[in-house]
Amino acid sequence: MNIDKKLISALGAIQEETNIEYINDIIELIKSDQLYREKINDILKTHNIVSYKDAKEEFLDLIIHYINCVLLDDIIDEIEYYNVTQLKRLFKIKDDDFYKLRYDEIEEIIMKQIFRIYEDNQIEKLEAIHKSKLQGLFDLSYDQINKIVTDEVERALMQGGDITKLDAYYKMPNTPNFSDDSPDKVISKEVKDLVWKRDGGKCGKCGSSIGLEFNHITPFFKGGSNTFRNIQLLCEKCNRLKSTKF
Ligand SMILES: [Zn+2]
Repeated sequence: MNIDKKLISALGAIQEETNIEYINDIIELIKSDQLYREKINDILKTHNIVSYKDAKEEFLDLIIHYINCVLLDDIIDEIEYYNVTQLKRLFKIKDDDFYKLRYDEIEEIIMKQIFRIYEDNQIEKLEAIHKSKLQGLFDLSYDQINKIVTDEVERALMQGGDITKLDAYYKMPNTPNFSDDSPDKVISKEVKDLVWKRDGGKCGKCGSSIGLEFNHITPFFKGGSNTFRNIQLLCEKCNRLKSTKF
């Protein structure tokens, strides 16, 4: 762990609120930079907690509380991101835990951050990175974060925001661009998630993280399939450049 000031003050705040002994013991471990699996196991054993499952609620509380404290200044820096990742790993938090067990809380956190990011109706490079960090913090899939973010995108669009400057994920509903999508052309959620992960949320040509689209490497009309191997992430600009070549 990297023990920074915000982590210490977040932990202090949790300690004031909780009277759960083993959580207090674990917080002491973190504060003294001793958070190892064996030491966590010892503490759980001492307090007769048989498995990580039984402590999951409190562990999720602890992490969410930390994230909330971290976001008081609107930014998650590298160290803080690393801290959260470490906590998730050590407490055995799985991919679906936040979404399934704490949907309301993470929705609130993300909405607040997205609102801040979209305030000026455009999303800058740093903000795009920040947004994909939010996705990573809570282990959300492409569609899961999309669902939470959509309202905020729509609000920004209504205030005159430019869609190309707003969001890497959002798809306008019922626009002519998408009316020719036959069901066969629809790329599955699983493939989108895999491609997104493989390509690191960046355009395969220029590395931009703005205005990303899923692109068929061999075009659909030339018989290209919707499989993982044939789909790549391209930014809008590179995608248009590519399609004018065909
Ligand atoms: Zn590009």
